[in-house]
Amino acid sequence: MDFKYRLASVQVGGADVLIAEHNGRHLPVRAALNREDLGRLPVGGPTDLMPLLAQWNYWRGVLPLRLADAVDAFEAHGSLEAGSFRPPVALPRKLICIGANYHDHIKEMPIPVVPTYPYAFLKPASTTLRGSGQPVFAPRQVQMLDWEAELAVVIGTACRDVPVARALEVVAGYSALNDLSARDWIASRPAIGVDWVLHKSFDGFAPMGPYFVPAALVPDPQKLPITLTVNNEVKQRSNTEQMVFGVPEIIAHLSSVMTLEPGDVIATGTPAGVGIGRKPPEFLKPGDVVRIEIGEFGPLVTPILPP
Ligand code: MG
Repeated sequence: MDFKYRLASVQVGGADVLIAEHNGRHLPVRAALNREDLGRLPVGGPTDLMPLLAQWNYWRGVLPLRLADAVDAFEAHGSLEAGSFRPPVALPRKLICIGANYHDHIKEMPIPVVPTYPYAFLKPASTTLRGSGQPVFAPRQVQMLDWEAELAVVIGTACRDVPVARALEVVAGYSALNDLSARDWIASRPAIGVDWVLHKSFDGFAPMGPYFVPAALVPDPQKLPITLTVNNEVKQRSNTEQMVFGVPEIIAHLSSVMTLEPGDVIATGTPAGVGIGRKPPEFLKPGDVVRIEIGEFGPLVTPILPP
């Protein structure tokens, strides 16, 4: 049986460290590796998943073996506090998001038709990603700050024109992402249209994590329960089986347009229950705490703070 593990980037004493988790106990990934392994990594690293994803074909096989050998070194970690997580991939080359991709979400929104191909947009990864527990500051120009719980796919193999039937082979693993949105910044401008960049791109608008689970331990990405709460009140409760385009179709489509690279993150759309779709509409305000649980990626907690 496969060794069960999850990976996360955490802040320890001011430095970022990639750790492995097994049955609630933790170990810095470095501590499980041998000399040959360490020679493949940056000095003192890894601080996040990126160096592993750059050689995922090696690590996907080696890592579970090394971690299983080191299982007695895993420690119960009282000091792993909620605020210490960093995004599992600190700086992906691309953070691609799919919109209007859940049947139950399309029904609640003024989306006139089910899309015939995955509708995509980009977020600026370097300034939107946050770890679990890290706060997001409500922008002062935004009155309609909204949540979107999403399954995040992390690419492990550079690829182009991947057929649907082989698309899951390029996936390194999965995590959770909150595609925060400023609904009042999407407004159509006469003759120009909807602004998909600004309303998705304020600083901190992509909390991600806390854990990355390797694809080998996620038997079916279209069978994952999704729950999002605001201040412990359930707002979204669905399942990835509600997706219009599943993970393979999304990867096949995107890779027909652009080369997907190791570390790229694809957020796969959100189910019903977003704030703008509620009656009456609801939006986030300073003091709120958003919590997302998808599959076994751990609770992604985001405190909303004043500007
Ligand atoms: Mg979204």
